[in-house]
Amino acid sequence: MHEMGIVVSFVKMTEEYAAKNNAKKVLKVVLQLGEISGIEARYLTEFYPVVVEGTMLEGSQLVIETIAASVFCTDCATTYNPMRSDLKCPTCGGEHCDIIDGRGLFIKEIGIEEKTHG
Ligand SMILES: [Zn+2]
Repeated sequence: MHEMGIVVSFVKMTEEYAAKNNAKKVLKVVLQLGEISGIEARYLTEFYPVVVEGTMLEGSQLVIETIAASVFCTDCATTYNPMRSDLKCPTCGGEHCDIIDGRGLFIKEIGIEEKTHG
């Protein structure tokens, strides 16, 4: 299970961003999670409150958006979602494909509360 390490690293990235942007605290983090990333969203949600405890992210909201998987069939050039067709190309039945989308985990948005000046 590698989700804990993933949460730790994106929390660290968020903290760096928040510090650079003069944030008092982080209110919200929006993640985009690929359908075939191999990462379980429910673990991210579970570990998040534990990891953010005592950081600028404590009490913030975690939003996870799923990115649909998308692959390109190298046999017939069809673009399809492998999750909906049992990993085979729906056009030619082939299994040779290049992954276009749905593999990664990205931070899409970080909502911060800025320090008040003066
Ligand atoms: Zn095909």
